[in-house]
Amino acid sequence: MTEKWNLSAAPESTSHVELQDTYHLFINGEFRKPKSGKYFDTINPATNTVIATVSEAGKQDVDDAMKAAEKAFPAWSKLDGKERGKYIFRIARTIQERSREFAVIESLDGGKPIRESRDVDIPLAAAHFFYCAGWADKLEYAFPNRSPKPLGVAAQIIPWNFPLLMAAWKIAPALACGNTVVLKPAETTPLTALKLAEIIQEAGLPPGVVNIVTGAGETGAAMTAHPIPKKLAFTGSTEVGKFIYKAALDGNKKVTLELGGKAANIIFDDAPIEAAVEGIINGIYFNQGHVCCAGSRLFVQETVYEEVLSKLKRRMDTFIVGDPMDKNTDIGAINSKAQLKTIEEYLKIGREEGAEIYQPKCNLPKTGNWCAPTLFTNVAQSNRIVQEEIFGPVLAIQTFRTIDEVIDKANNTPYGLSAGVWTDKGSKIFQLTQALKAGVIWANTYNKFDATSPFGGYKESGFGREGGIHGMEAYLKFD
Ligand code: ADP
Repeated sequence: MTEKWNLSAAPESTSHVELQDTYHLFINGEFRKPKSGKYFDTINPATNTVIATVSEAGKQDVDDAMKAAEKAFPAWSKLDGKERGKYIFRIARTIQERSREFAVIESLDGGKPIRESRDVDIPLAAAHFFYCAGWADKLEYAFPNRSPKPLGVAAQIIPWNFPLLMAAWKIAPALACGNTVVLKPAETTPLTALKLAEIIQEAGLPPGVVNIVTGAGETGAAMTAHPIPKKLAFTGSTEVGKFIYKAALDGNKKVTLELGGKAANIIFDDAPIEAAVEGIINGIYFNQGHVCCAGSRLFVQETVYEEVLSKLKRRMDTFIVGDPMDKNTDIGAINSKAQLKTIEEYLKIGREEGAEIYQPKCNLPKTGNWCAPTLFTNVAQSNRIVQEEIFGPVLAIQTFRTIDEVIDKANNTPYGLSAGVWTDKGSKIFQLTQALKAGVIWANTYNKFDATSPFGGYKESGFGREGGIHGMEAYLKFD
């Protein structure tokens, strides 16, 4: 058992954050009360207390937002690319300037450690706006001889695991390509998208170019069924993704789906073991495992299994689990009560399937939604905890002897979003990247994201790519 460092509390200050008690819908450049008359609370998952009350957009509100976006489209799409780029650069710069405020709100609303929202979510969100802003006047060069043209209004629905970052993934390329948007954040994490709406208003974007409506599945369904949008963009569960796909087919709309995953993280015996252990940790425990590309299935070559397992457990023993606002925290709160229930159900299933469970001792806070980081050994390919996406800090470990065996095992999944390979041999990396059916494959690293790089999956992980030039292509049509 490794000694945990006895660190003093290092809470991030919240004094610079301005939050309203009640948030309205951002439609046509202004904040409007919902015609539905309905509201819901957004909760701090670390304390289960209400942070703010948020509007629930009904059908009429969604219709208003779509009409505002449709009205704004002709002028926005005809605006010189350089001018469109200036607006997007302005948004990017303001996110950077107010990054501490965004980071605090993201951690309050979603439960992720402040270190992650500060160092990953917010800088990456700004990077996506910067990246796309740079392309706004160069689309002819990004897609030479193809006469790129915008699609029209895009309806965009995002999940709760990376709220501001997902909003950036969706809004930045759409605007750069000359589309207008209606975006809905997830019902448990609407606050940073609403803050983004304030920035967009301050940036002087023409009214209706970006509309942000809040609500849950019904609001989302009203968006996807609406006749105006020409494009649906969705990130979330495979289950809801199937509804969205059907709505796209029914309405003859373009669609991109970024859905679930159950990624293989593969450690060969010639890998740098200490680095690989950090990669395993980052792969599954980053953001409490609420990551579609999380490395939730670990494959370790038999000869180094005992070494990797003991080092992994020792590393897990040092975890600081608790207050997301503390700068020392490694693992924060589970995003919602409902998600905690799902994860706990899988912990029970794992035990019933005969797997062996390991959880380090951690003093979980008394209130809020918490789950100790977990690993399961003695699992079989057919186990539900190996096949199904848990979306929590739960790792299933298996062993392998040969490359062919691990390729078969890794591909034995309905998903195909990501994978990780750890080895000293470049040739092995190339063999695996060709054989693994996954959209993103990391070699000797994990969970590295970059605005210039496309991201997306195969099979039940969806289709279409976000990020990079590929991400913009999804918001364009060609002659
Ligand atoms: P997760 O498993 O990450 O909670 P969901 O797929 O349930 O993901 O939710 C992702 C987003 O999809 C959220 O913004 C949610 O409100 C929205 N949503 C849920 N159900 C529907 C639906 N039937 N139609 C459109 N959007 C939906």
